[in-house]
Amino acid sequence: MTRLLHADCHVHSSYSDGEDDLLAMVEAGIAAGLDVMVLTDHLTLPTAMGPTADVSVAARDLPFYRADVLALDHLSRAKGGPEVVLGFECDWYPGSEANIARWSAGAKVRLGSVHWVGGGWMDDAQDLSVYEELGADELWRRYVDAWCSACESPANFDVMAHPDLARRFEAEGWAPTIDVAPLYDRMAECAHDTGKRIELSTAGLRKPFADYYPARPLLERFRRAEVPITLGSDAHRACDVAFGLADARAHALEIGYREQQVPHADGSWETCTLA
Ligand SMILES: [Zn+2]
Ligand SMILES: [Zn+2]
Repeated sequence: MTRLLHADCHVHSSYSDGEDDLLAMVEAGIAAGLDVMVLTDHLTLPTAMGPTADVSVAARDLPFYRADVLALDHLSRAKGGPEVVLGFECDWYPGSEANIARWSAGAKVRLGSVHWVGGGWMDDAQDLSVYEELGADELWRRYVDAWCSACESPANFDVMAHPDLARRFEAEGWAPTIDVAPLYDRMAECAHDTGKRIELSTAGLRKPFADYYPARPLLERFRRAEVPITLGSDAHRACDVAFGLADARAHALEIGYREQQVPHADGSWETCTLA
């Protein structure tokens, strides 16, 4: 007998690039009536990728982040709030595996993300140079190559976050002109073959393109390939915790999904209904 749990599996705080601190995010999760909340601040980056450590948890802060998440799990449960799960959003880049293993020790959930393609960040609204250098078509090809490498990586990510992040700036003139259907097919096959979960993210609903990650045709392919889903808001502000998740469950149901997967603080995973 499966049950319905209200879970937000992707949340950031001021430990990385979020605006509000962990306590504010957990209080928002309590107010939203969440059953499970996974704190997934950006994992520490090599100096060359994050010289100022303002977008990821600084290495020196990792012990404090772990301790604060565990303390907030106790506090939240004492208030009748959600179970709070220790996680990280981990950037995949070539050679990332040893860093991920070292820096993410103790995490129960590791989101796998590709934000770094062609030597630059592809989700930084202040710096679109990687789009200008590669163009949207080549960026998409390189993104999908990297994404499949991330699925296959021995880092063994629990969930692939926002699977088609390459659409981030499509409303700003960076939509691909190539047919992306073969790339979608490759992504679904790769997620299936490597046993990955993928995230249905509501973050894109708050961006100019105003849609879910992944786009409907890609989510339909994941469903046909029997790739399980998790749900996440990718909140960087307390006011965005649990954003759009009830609608996202209805959207997944409409596409033919019947279940979502939900992690627990003990590291186990539960298959839950969507309605
Ligand atoms: Zn991300
Ligand atoms: Zn994120």
